[in-house]
Amino acid sequence: MTLLEDGFARRFHYLRLSVTDVCNFRCTYCLPDGYRPDGRKSFLSLDEIRTLTRTFAAMGTHKVRLTGGEPSLRRDLTEIIETVASTPGIRKVALTTNGYRLRERAAEWRRAGLTSLNVSVDSLDARQFHRITGEDKFAEVMAGIDAALAAGFERVKVNAVLLKGLNDHELDTFLGWIRDNPIELRFIELMQTGEMDERFARHHVSGETIKARLLQSGWLSQLRGQDDGPAQVFCHPQSQGRIGLIMPYAKDFCADCNRLRVSATGKLHLCLFGEQGVDLRDLLADASDEAALIERVRLAVQGKARSHYLQQGLVGNTPHLASIGG
Ligand code: SAM
Ligand code: SF4
Repeated sequence: MTLLEDGFARRFHYLRLSVTDVCNFRCTYCLPDGYRPDGRKSFLSLDEIRTLTRTFAAMGTHKVRLTGGEPSLRRDLTEIIETVASTPGIRKVALTTNGYRLRERAAEWRRAGLTSLNVSVDSLDARQFHRITGEDKFAEVMAGIDAALAAGFERVKVNAVLLKGLNDHELDTFLGWIRDNPIELRFIELMQTGEMDERFARHHVSGETIKARLLQSGWLSQLRGQDDGPAQVFCHPQSQGRIGLIMPYAKDFCADCNRLRVSATGKLHLCLFGEQGVDLRDLLADASDEAALIERVRLAVQGKARSHYLQQGLVGNTPHLASIGG
């Protein structure tokens, strides 16, 4: 088996696969003006996703996260989940969603083989949720989380982007919510992207402030598993829920990077930031191109940079995370 390893001895077992750029929300930090269709784009088909997943599995990938844009806007999402989950070698299939369609589809997605779920909820206050996401769907999304727990997802992960002045005063409310719920709440530090204006300076707040408050109030840091994402996870004896902190500006954030990304148009991205991507699409139409695809990915991975250099203000070519699958 050709295992994927870069020049810094990092191994890649985890693929984040975007299935669409389209989104129906207008999160202020991502698509504040909503999704603007680009008529020339076509997204990977189910067959292309099958070939891609099989080839990555042949290179040691065992976890795939489906993301977007909003993946639930794909009519064939259930088939995509089934296809990825039934690929030999793939042990975990995760989905990141804004919660749209979750209430109706959670059980179906689970039956199709979805093993874990991240739902974005930036505020527990319905009005603030509306203000941040552009959609008045707080109750619907929360009902979706209940449906996911009822469908048997053991620990639903909830993503909240930390936003100074918008939700950073809600820590205690969030902690109260997860006390009796099997939720892993992940606070994500706001990342600066190409199209982001002065919002970054206005709303960025370091996860270190949350970390300090958690440690002061008895939360304990947990060790990371091999194919876990980038979060530092904390637990508390009196809380059923856990907290994860994703701090991309922290020193050494990239040191144990274990993930690669493929965009909805079939480009391999070695990092969220800083590069154009390597086109894989011409090799996805024909399943017999597997050897060439492996070689292209292997060579690209060898050139992966040590760090995203975000700390130096580099934001690279990524206009917003919906374009690459955050
Ligand atoms: N639409 C889905 C959702 O919102 O969950 C999946 C795609 S979205 C790009 C994936 C995650 O990236 C979401 O949790 C979102 O909050 C986060 N995100 C988007 N833009 C971000 C930014 N500039 N900084 C930090 N997180 C961001
Ligand atoms: Fe859509 Fe997700 Fe971006 Fe919000 S964060 S605009 S839900 S892609």
